[in-house]
Amino acid sequence: MANTQETILVIGACGQLGSELTLSLRAIYGGNQVVAADIYEPRQADLLNSGPFEKLDVLDPAGMALMATRYKFTQVYHLAAVLSATGEKDPKFAWRLNMEGLFHVLDLALAQGIQRVFWPSSIAVFGPDTPRQQTPQHTIMNPSTVYGISKQAGEMWCAYYYKKYGLDIRSLRYPGLIGYKTLPGGGTTDYAVDIYRKAVAGQPFECYLHQDTYLPMMYMPDAIKATIDLMQAPAQSISVRESYNISGMSFSPKEIATSIQKFVPSFKIIYKPDSRQQIADSWPQTISDHVARQDWGWQPTFNLDAMTADMLENLKAQLSFEA
Ligand code: NAD
Repeated sequence: MANTQETILVIGACGQLGSELTLSLRAIYGGNQVVAADIYEPRQADLLNSGPFEKLDVLDPAGMALMATRYKFTQVYHLAAVLSATGEKDPKFAWRLNMEGLFHVLDLALAQGIQRVFWPSSIAVFGPDTPRQQTPQHTIMNPSTVYGISKQAGEMWCAYYYKKYGLDIRSLRYPGLIGYKTLPGGGTTDYAVDIYRKAVAGQPFECYLHQDTYLPMMYMPDAIKATIDLMQAPAQSISVRESYNISGMSFSPKEIATSIQKFVPSFKIIYKPDSRQQIADSWPQTISDHVARQDWGWQPTFNLDAMTADMLENLKAQLSFEA
C-alpha cells in the first residue's frame, strides 16, 4: 500500500519518463505531494496544472538543499541525465551531469533524512563483451559509451551508499522507453518513438539503424508500473542494490515497421544507419529479468502489437486535438 504521507521530488520531471511518471505518482499520492522539478519550464499543461513545479538544477546542491528544507521530501526520483547518443557529442559534460547530479542527490538524501531514492540505470551499462541473448543480472559489462560508463559507475555508487550509509536507493536498468506524450531525449532507441509519429502523419520513416538491429524496449505504462512497484516493495524484498534488469519486449526496426503496417498498410520505412548503429550493436538483444520477477513480482503487460495499437490510437487523437 502507498503511504499517502509521502512528499516526493521528481528531478527531470519534464522529460520523456518524468512527465508521465510525475502524473502517475500524483494520482497515487495526491497532486500537492509530488513536486515536479526540472531545469526547464514544462510545456505540458497537465504537468503544470496537476501540482507544484519548481525550477531546479541538479548541478546546484545549495538550491536543492533549500528546496528540500522547504518541502521536507521523503522520496526523490532523480531522472535528469544526458542520454546515450547526446552523451557522445560532449562526453565530459555527460559525465559531469550524470555523476555530479547523482552525488548531489545521494548526499542530499543523507543530509535531509530522505527515506527512499529512485535513480534509473540503463541497458547501456552492457557492452560488446556482454552476452547479448538473455543478458543475466550479473555479467561482464564493459560499456562503450560515456553514458554507459556513467550509469555503471552510478550503479556502484548507489550500492556503496546503501552498504555504507544504509540509504534506501533503488534502481532499474531500463531498456529503450517508448511513449507518445513527450519527444524522446537523445537516446539510441529513440527511433522506436519517432517511427510512430511518422506513421500517424502519413509520412515514410528514415531509420538510423539497420533493419535487423534487435534491441530491448519497453512501453511507458510498463516502465512506470515497474518503477512504482519497485519503490513500493518492502525493503527486505530488494536483493539488488546496483540496479535490476527488467525486460519488456525486443524487436528490430523491420519488425516494428511490420507491426505498424498491420494498422497503416501504406507505411514505408527506409534504412540509413548512422553512428548510433555502433552503439546499438554494443548492447544486448534480450534481457533476463528473473531476479526482478522473483524479488518484487515484476511482469510486463505490453507486447509489440499491443503497444503499436495503443501508440497509434493515442498519437492520432493527439494530432486531431492539435489540428
Ligand atoms: P529526457 O532527456 O527526456 O529527460 C531528462 C530531463 O532532465 C529533461 O526534462 C531535462 O530538462 C532535465 N534536466 C537536464 N539537465 C538537468 C539539470 N541540470 N537539472 C535538472 N533537470 C535537468 O530523459 P528520459 O528519457 O526521461 O530519461 C530519464 C532517465 O531514465 C535518465 O536517467 C535516463 O538515463 C534513464 N533512461 C531512459 C531511457 C529511455 O529510453 N528514455 C532508457 C534507459 C534509461
